[in-house]
Amino acid sequence: MKIAFIGLGHMGGPMALNLHKAGHEVRAFDLSQAACEQLAASGVPVAAGAAAAVQGAEVVISMLPASQHVDGLYFGSHGQPGLLAQIAKGTLVIDSSTIAAATSQKVAKAAEAQGVQFIDAPVSGGTGGAIAGTLTFMVGGDAAALERARPLLEKMGANIFHAGAVGAGQTAKICNNMLLGILMAGTSEAIALGVANGLNPKVLSEIMRRSSGGNWALEKYNPYPGVQDNVPSSKGYAGGFGTDLMLKDLGLAQENATAVKAATPLGGLARSLYAMHSLAGHGTLDFSSILQSVQKRA
Ligand code: NAD
Repeated sequence: MKIAFIGLGHMGGPMALNLHKAGHEVRAFDLSQAACEQLAASGVPVAAGAAAAVQGAEVVISMLPASQHVDGLYFGSHGQPGLLAQIAKGTLVIDSSTIAAATSQKVAKAAEAQGVQFIDAPVSGGTGGAIAGTLTFMVGGDAAALERARPLLEKMGANIFHAGAVGAGQTAKICNNMLLGILMAGTSEAIALGVANGLNPKVLSEIMRRSSGGNWALEKYNPYPGVQDNVPSSKGYAGGFGTDLMLKDLGLAQENATAVKAATPLGGLARSLYAMHSLAGHGTLDFSSILQSVQKRA
């Protein structure tokens, strides 16, 4: 299939590479020259711009940071024309960014008006899942559009869920990430408490992993440096899922909770913790660096 892939960051880069490796004709683009060069070095053709990437594409995939980027890409920003007008009738657009459900619905409505199919398909599984092609996709949109996307999603992910109509994928994603933000902060607190009492973080993590406190952070993404190899905490919290992106997702969850009058006290507290961590200058570090906010300094 001819695929335009827009947004080649921590997630988009390896996702585009997996589609290329699976034999698809990928044309990629990112505003960052460095991101384009990194992917080109792996053999993936890079287009001169987003409009050039979508020429002749059957499927357009976007993987951008936040709502304003997706809105700006498809409808235009800073004097740049919107990409949607450049996308041919009959094309399928898959947006895998984590954004407000209302933005997904706005793009879907405009796409439908010009005969373009749209699904929101945010992901979970981190950069490790993006590289390994084992992401979980949470899809919102028509069942028929999902079936059209499925062969591509299967090359990038291991689990594909149909959450409901357009926007439902985003809603599922913010519920998941609110829980993730809470459990990473809680896991950090528990390990820091043990270490402050002289426990070995590796031993304590293993005890909790196999006990009733076991969770995804302890299994795959330990926040304490040196406990696990190849996780952001063991690489100076570089790469991974940025604190500011987690802060964005916790904000989306709180906005949504306000709209539907849901009670999310721990989600609200977690948003404040990550906001303070970001204000302390750690916004670009992986979100597991929240451990530093509860860690006893040497
Ligand atoms: P990132 O910041 O590493 O990458 C985003 C890329 O989009 C950047 O390279 C940026 O230059 C590019 N970009 C922005 N606007 C653009 C435009 N108009 N045209 C072309 N390129 C543009 O972010 P990421 O970590 O890859 O995350 C992407 C999305 O996936 C976010 O919504 C995030 O919340 C979500 N997500 C991330 C993770 C993770 O572990 N990093 C996990 C699940 C979901």
